[in-house]
Amino acid sequence: MNLELQKFKETLLTALINAGAGAAGIADLTAAEKAIQLHADPRLARFQRAVSFIIPFPRSIIEELQEGPSNTYLHYYRAVNTLIDDLSIRLSTMLEVRGYETFPVPSSQRTGTDRLNSIFPHRIAAYLAGMGWIGKSGCLITQAHGPRVRLGTVLTSAPLPPDKPLDLICGNCSLCMKECPAQAIEGVIFTPDTPLAERLKPELCDQYQNKVRDRFGKRVCGLCLAACPIGKPALKPRNS
Ligand code: SF4
Ligand code: SF4
Repeated sequence: MNLELQKFKETLLTALINAGAGAAGIADLTAAEKAIQLHADPRLARFQRAVSFIIPFPRSIIEELQEGPSNTYLHYYRAVNTLIDDLSIRLSTMLEVRGYETFPVPSSQRTGTDRLNSIFPHRIAAYLAGMGWIGKSGCLITQAHGPRVRLGTVLTSAPLPPDKPLDLICGNCSLCMKECPAQAIEGVIFTPDTPLAERLKPELCDQYQNKVRDRFGKRVCGLCLAACPIGKPALKPRNS
């Protein structure tokens, strides 16, 4: 193990946690080359490592979505994205002053009207960095917060010691699939080599959110986030 790189990794991850991230880790992107080829901009395939971090959403904000579209959720969605972009830029600077190349992936950016992917899939980097597993809903599922998180990713040439993906899956649960009003979730367990199209129909989710915009004024849903039982605390027994 290169002790200097290990120490640098710890410095980066500690800086993220101190600045507001809920967890952070390093992804070895070579472990999911096929998925990255399928879902990322080819110009970014040269990066072999990513720093991945999560920002948790307050659970109450997500639970509101069970009642319908929520302006409060949209407000914090934007606020969290701003925080992610801020942390990504700071992280890039820490890496670049050491001479490494970086690409901070924008927190939320569509790459075109006919392509629902972002420029780089945050969730693949987060999965490889051990932040959680990719659920049937297509979201990253963390043990502590379930899917109630947003993700940040900074691609880098720094050969940082990587973390390991978690060996966890959704199992028999299919609550997100049952709750999805667009029937966009196929209920297929994720593997890095399974194309997104076999697990999800993102165009149906997209069309549904366009319909929400017609009546609510903004695109929003999140019922699959609210439905997920992971990260919801068990009810405490009442004192007799
Ligand atoms: S956001 Fe809504 S429409 Fe899209 S997959 Fe989740 S539950 Fe389905
Ligand atoms: S609701 Fe169940 S199936 Fe869907 S992502 Fe959460 S754990 Fe997985």
